[in-house]
Amino acid sequence: MKKVSYKPSSAYVHIPFCTQICYYCDFAKVYIKNQPVDAYITALLEEVAAEKISELKTLYIGGGTPTALTAEQLDRLLAGLTQNLDLTMLQEFTVEANPGDLSDDKIAVLKKNHVNRVSLGVQTFNDKLLKKIGRSHNSQDVFDNVAKLRAAGFDNITIDLIYALPGQTMADVKKDIENILSLNLPHVALYSLILENHTIFMNKMRRGRLDLPSEDTDFEMYNYIIDSLQAAGYEHYEISNFGKAGYESAHNLMYWDNAEYYGFGAGASGYLNGVRYKNHVPIHHYLEHADKQAVKEKLTQKEQMEEELFLGLRKKSGVNMRHFSEKFDQNFDSIYGQTVSQLIEKQLLEKSGDQIFMTRQGLMLGNDVFETFILDDD
Ligand code: SF4
Repeated sequence: MKKVSYKPSSAYVHIPFCTQICYYCDFAKVYIKNQPVDAYITALLEEVAAEKISELKTLYIGGGTPTALTAEQLDRLLAGLTQNLDLTMLQEFTVEANPGDLSDDKIAVLKKNHVNRVSLGVQTFNDKLLKKIGRSHNSQDVFDNVAKLRAAGFDNITIDLIYALPGQTMADVKKDIENILSLNLPHVALYSLILENHTIFMNKMRRGRLDLPSEDTDFEMYNYIIDSLQAAGYEHYEISNFGKAGYESAHNLMYWDNAEYYGFGAGASGYLNGVRYKNHVPIHHYLEHADKQAVKEKLTQKEQMEEELFLGLRKKSGVNMRHFSEKFDQNFDSIYGQTVSQLIEKQLLEKSGDQIFMTRQGLMLGNDVFETFILDDD
């Protein structure tokens, strides 16, 4: 395989604090009250400084909830992260925000520190459902925040929504889409609810107390979402992501292109020199360890090839077979030719020139498609 000898041009920074704990969430996060937030920011900035990064194309601050920090803490974090960066190279600088936490002073801090993309965790515009999933904001907060962000000069705003929520109906999803379209944002991501272990929802499910939509309703919702957003001029460029031309997320595309990146902060994952790593978590472990990386896994060529396909096929444009053959110095056809033919026959995959990509049916059954690309151990 061709050696990658350059430094990554993307970084993910994890802020593990939240002002609420949502019932469906299994991310690395804690309730912010009484947490050593200032010490955490100091440790995080030291971890970043040790890499001596001077150029990045994308920088993504996620969580948790970055806007759970005070304006002063957020300012120290963002100024510290960008102080040694060549800002002319930084194309996309995203900060995730919770609509309930995004005050005027925090918006001013984002602007001052060169953030050019804000991702709002909206989840749904239905206030009753928001309560039911443990969120503390309401739909009016979303409209107010978008207006304030625009007034402050942010045009690249994206919102995350979840569908197939407990008790959610098709009519609720249609209303959410109506609200999205009324905001006329350049980008939106919609995810089907996934029940994760160790969440309040999983507990409720086990006790038979979670009223989830059926799989058929889930598909119906997904189809409706795709059709209505495409009709409104959004490109469905990844399983769950929709963007107006030029507003696709450069940072997320980097993941789906299977590129390497830095991951900083408690519980953050990164990918450097063929090694996938995960940082120490919880926070006190992260603060205690000089080497922040708790788990390091050197990927075999087989694993790298599988990941190239799992990640690449999430994109509407799919995977380029010639590029794959060159990157791994292997003949794509002799490894995957038969799998591809079978998936095309089942109408889950399509081929156009050197490109393979999933059909609508394939996108809905993504995991089934990905599984077929797992290679036998030899
Ligand atoms: S969904 Fe987001 S805001 Fe809610 S607990 Fe998880 S990380 Fe925090």
